[in-house]
Amino acid sequence: MVNALERLVDCFSRLPTIGRKSAWRLALHLMERPEEEVAELALAIGTIKKLVHLCPECFSYTEGERCDICVDGRRDRSVVCVVEKPTDVFTIERAGRYRGVYHVLGGVLSPIDGVTPDRLRIEELGQRLDKGEIRELILGLGGSADAETTELYLARVFGPRQLRITRFARGLPAGTELDYIDQLTLTQALQERIEVRTGRDEGAH
Ligand SMILES: [Zn+2]
Repeated sequence: MVNALERLVDCFSRLPTIGRKSAWRLALHLMERPEEEVAELALAIGTIKKLVHLCPECFSYTEGERCDICVDGRRDRSVVCVVEKPTDVFTIERAGRYRGVYHVLGGVLSPIDGVTPDRLRIEELGQRLDKGEIRELILGLGGSADAETTELYLARVFGPRQLRITRFARGLPAGTELDYIDQLTLTQALQERIEVRTGRDEGAH
């Protein structure tokens, strides 16, 4: 028979980066906290799936119908930064210099893990481009090998369109996810972005 404490430890140990030992430490820590504090945590966890959903335009997280960035009239809607996951939006926003909008792909291509193009929001990106408002795609998928493969794939798919396709400037550490890049480096990489060769019009810029 599993008691309540063990059930909580089981729940914690299913979370990423939390091993059995850390799960026990968290559970025992909560046992020592006031009941209101634990109830607040439980409520915060319990409501996220009800309140937070994906923005239908950029696929970042929002509580409103569309996210704050998509509804902000001061943002430059002709520039779209393509990122892997919603946390990347928060990372770039924290750096504070980007004025365009975003498109969250929902992952990067990874044949080994079965992540094929149809599993990512590439078609949705194509639909946004079809509206003709977007002049530049900034590929901001980080420095991993899978991210680079994905950027090349996107450049090939969307290269034939009348579109500037850029990526973050070199200088980002290879193999690094955006989460681990400091804000200054990220801001510089965004400002000094470089053209991606698409094979369509090499040398035409
Ligand atoms: Zn949005």
